[in-house]
Amino acid sequence: MMVFLRSKLLRELTKEERRRHHQEIGGFVLGKYREEDIVVLDRLVECTNVSDLPFVKYCPEEACTEKACKLVFRKDRGNIAITLFHTHPRDTFFSVEDVESLINLSKYLGIECIPAFLSTYNSEGHFLSYSLGHYTLISRFFEIESRPLEDRLKKHFSKLGSLADRIEYTVMQR
Ligand SMILES: [Zn+2]
Repeated sequence: MMVFLRSKLLRELTKEERRRHHQEIGGFVLGKYREEDIVVLDRLVECTNVSDLPFVKYCPEEACTEKACKLVFRKDRGNIAITLFHTHPRDTFFSVEDVESLINLSKYLGIECIPAFLSTYNSEGHFLSYSLGHYTLISRFFEIESRPLEDRLKKHFSKLGSLADRIEYTVMQR
C-alpha cells in the first residue's frame, strides 16, 4: 500500500506545541483512497484525552470518536481512510494496547485501517507508523525511513498478527 501525506498534515502532526505537551494528545487522521492501494491523508480530527492517566495513556473522548466514525459511515464509505494518532511525551514506542485499539477500530468500522501514527517527544519531531515487522520514521522535514522491528518488539506484538503489509509513505508538498 502507498500512503501519501499532505505536507500540511505532517506539519500539523509534528508541530512544536504538540511535541512539548506533557500529556498524551491525539485524535484521528482521515483521508481518501485514490485507488485500491493508494491513500491520501489530509485531515486531522483532534480529540480531548479523557484517560484517567493522561500522562501515560491516550483515550479519545467518545463524542469525538463518534464524529470521526460518522465521517467514515457517510455516503462515500469505502472511499474514506482512517487511522489513529497520538503522542508519547516520554518517547516510547507503540504499546500493545495502542495496536489493539487500531485493530478494534478497524473491526468496528468494518474497514481496513492503515497503521496508526505516533508522535514521540524526541527533539527531531519524528513520528512513527507501525506495521508488523517494520516501522516507519517520518520527520517533519519530510525524511522517511523504514526500519525493521527489534526482536524484542517483534515478540511483543506477535500475538496481534499482521496489521498491514509494509507501507510506502510519500509526503506531498502541497
Ligand atoms: Zn500510546
